[in-house]
Amino acid sequence: MIRSDMAGSVAVEMGPEEKLEKMRFHHYSLKIILRTTMAFQAPSQLFMFLYYVIPYLFEDYSQGTRNVLSFFVILGTVEGLYNYFCVILCDPSVPKKVQSNGYPSNGQATHYTYQNGVTVDLQTDDYVDDSGLQWRYCKTCESDMPPRSWHCDICQGCILKRDHHCFMVGNCIGLNNQRYFAVLALYALLCGWIGGYFQYKYLQTFYFPVSWSWTDFLPPFTVYRWLFGRWPALTFHILMMICQVYMDFVFGTFGFLYFTFQMTVISKGYTAFEMAKFMPVRNSNSRNFNFRTVFGDYWALNFIFPMSYFFPPKVDGIKWEGVKIDHNL
Ligand SMILES: [Zn+2]
Ligand SMILES: [Zn+2]
Repeated sequence: MIRSDMAGSVAVEMGPEEKLEKMRFHHYSLKIILRTTMAFQAPSQLFMFLYYVIPYLFEDYSQGTRNVLSFFVILGTVEGLYNYFCVILCDPSVPKKVQSNGYPSNGQATHYTYQNGVTVDLQTDDYVDDSGLQWRYCKTCESDMPPRSWHCDICQGCILKRDHHCFMVGNCIGLNNQRYFAVLALYALLCGWIGGYFQYKYLQTFYFPVSWSWTDFLPPFTVYRWLFGRWPALTFHILMMICQVYMDFVFGTFGFLYFTFQMTVISKGYTAFEMAKFMPVRNSNSRNFNFRTVFGDYWALNFIFPMSYFFPPKVDGIKWEGVKIDHNL
């Protein structure tokens, strides 16, 4: 769009589609950076723990204790990576069979959207019940989507029970992958904070006595001294471990924030999208049932072992018993 002001100068404004393209490009760049970081961090941290931190920091402990610690380190890495790959590889979009499963066909669903918490363009049709949850028609995808599903401009698709688009993993979080995302957040928290603490203890015990000063632990100085000055005390693996401690802190903190927020939202039976848009959603189900709608039966076991094969979620993403839009809230 081209606009000229009083002085006659011409300003070129970005149209909505150009803004979207720019936003998608930024998200894509961030996704590549974070996935590369993840590809480096997970295997190198496992290596550091198995070959340095556990053998040296726990030298005075029995071999049995070191084996148990190694087991938990491997378990944490496997659980973290498994859930990470499930989050990024699971397609969270509304399945095609849901769009043509005897439910509204194109154009029949209710045309409405949420704008600043206000419902606009609401039309009742045969598919609206007293829950206030309607099927809607997505003009971009030209297809119907069930209640609580929303279109994502970054993923360019309609997401089944859309929770949010996560820039950390570079994918939308919806019904199909939310269970993995919550478990991933827990392991990011554990591996980040606990892993970072023990790597810090290792550096404090074995490197700090021979380092120049505490400034060796600040990345710009660390890299500079590794390149030009402090060889051989500041080895490459010490440099990597110092970088990892910082990344552990970042991953652990994001893990903590996402995990506590996800567990709160899931227990209340909302989605992050509904909360962000201040939608008047009322959920009358028990906390236990709300957890089972995401994780399936025996939901807590998911945090120890992947249970998606044995216990699928208790909802299909279409019908939402006990959930309604209550404008009196
Ligand atoms: Zn769509
Ligand atoms: Zn998305």
